[in-house]
Amino acid sequence: MSISPTAQPRIVVIGGGNAGLSIAGRLQRARLGAITVIEPRERHVYAPLQSHIAGGTARASQAVRPQADVIPPGVRWLRDEVFTVDPVARRVHLVSGGHLEYDQLVVAAGLRLAWEAIPGLTEAMAAPEGVSNYDLALAAKASTRLRDLRRGTVVFTQPPEPASCGAAAQKPLYLACDWWHSLGVLDDIRVILVLPDPVPFGVPDIDRELHRVLDRYGVEVRYSREVRRVDATTRTLTIGHGDIEETIDYDVLHAVPPQRAPEWIAGSGLADADDPDGFVDVDTETLQHRRFADVWSLGDSASVATRRSGGAIRPQAKVLTKNLRAVLRGGTPTARYDGYSVVPFTVSRGTVVFAEFDRWGRPQPTIPFWRSLSRERRSTWIADRRVLPWVYWHLILRGLA
Ligand SMILES: Cc1cc2nc3c(=O)[nH]c(=O)nc-3n(C[C@H](O)[C@H](O)[C@H](O)COP(=O)(O)OP(=O)(O)OC[C@H]3O[C@@H](n4cnc5c(N)ncnc54)[C@H](O)[C@@H]3O)c2cc1C
Repeated sequence: MSISPTAQPRIVVIGGGNAGLSIAGRLQRARLGAITVIEPRERHVYAPLQSHIAGGTARASQAVRPQADVIPPGVRWLRDEVFTVDPVARRVHLVSGGHLEYDQLVVAAGLRLAWEAIPGLTEAMAAPEGVSNYDLALAAKASTRLRDLRRGTVVFTQPPEPASCGAAAQKPLYLACDWWHSLGVLDDIRVILVLPDPVPFGVPDIDRELHRVLDRYGVEVRYSREVRRVDATTRTLTIGHGDIEETIDYDVLHAVPPQRAPEWIAGSGLADADDPDGFVDVDTETLQHRRFADVWSLGDSASVATRRSGGAIRPQAKVLTKNLRAVLRGGTPTARYDGYSVVPFTVSRGTVVFAEFDRWGRPQPTIPFWRSLSRERRSTWIADRRVLPWVYWHLILRGLA
């Protein structure tokens, strides 16, 4: 169906998470068209707070709001789920059976947690010893399991990329170690961290800080290891690298699962056929699809060649809004996303190591020339625990920040 030149462009946003609502709010405020967000969930979760919940420094109720309350004013919410997209016919097909036509499409569907990719992991998470900050209920379970532990072995695992702020897997570890230290029981608890890479993070300034903190808490780190299987009945985890395998007994397993792009993205032809991960194939700087000029993507489901994070979405949303406006006015996209991303490591219950970097892993502090923001600080704790949640609910989700 074609539209008359005077009709408002129909802009459809798939996903009402961090990226979907940020961009919907911005596009609405810029009055670029009639905006519809498709989102099946009734509850909106502020994921970064799940690390604080697991680590005992926030309550589960603080991370959740009804979706209806966070939809930006003037934006239409369609409570449905996308089944597939036909980018040639410019049509989105819904699980409910209907379809929606668009003039411009923004894909902001996030990542899928692939618990099933590791044999035994789903069963291990259902057992009393299995916890995770990557799921709200498992984060609440973590908070009591880690709080009440006085001796034994706790294993924390971090998956390889692609992941949604993958290093956030480490946040509850540091919070728990600080808690056990304050109780005087840290020496009775063996803490093991399983990492996918040969360093804690991959940015030299940050690795220096994290090595210091890992030593401070006496954490045993297994570098360059993948989780191969878990057995909930014997409470054992097998990790490996090539031919080397190690099986570890645990009393608590804090696991973060492998993560994947939603399969329908590749099924719709929106991924690059050569991309085994199947993310939306956008230009990493303009965020416009490489083959379908009326398709855009940002957030965790976009292929933007940098580490995924909520902090990365803010500059992406600004760039995408400018470029979509230019295209609707008959121009070409000129605004560019520079690959900025962020991980705030909560290295104690009152300090944070704030990692800000670009797509090459070079430091990129928000406050120019203040590189020491990446050192362990109290001010960045206040930013992560107090300021950012407020900014998220009141400004980011409305497209104001
Ligand atoms: C435990 C954890 C801790 C984190 N900590 C930090 C941190 O400290 N700092 C930081 O900057 N970032 C952090 N992040 C990363 C940050 O939360 C994500 O990068 C951000 O939420 C991604 O936003 P998104 O909108 O792309 O995806 P999401 O927020 O996951 O939203 C995607 C939405 O799309 C919807 N959707 C999926 N499929 C469909 C479909 N077929 N049809 C319609 N809708 C669909 C989903 O229901 C969901 O609501 C953390 C993430 C996690 C999980």
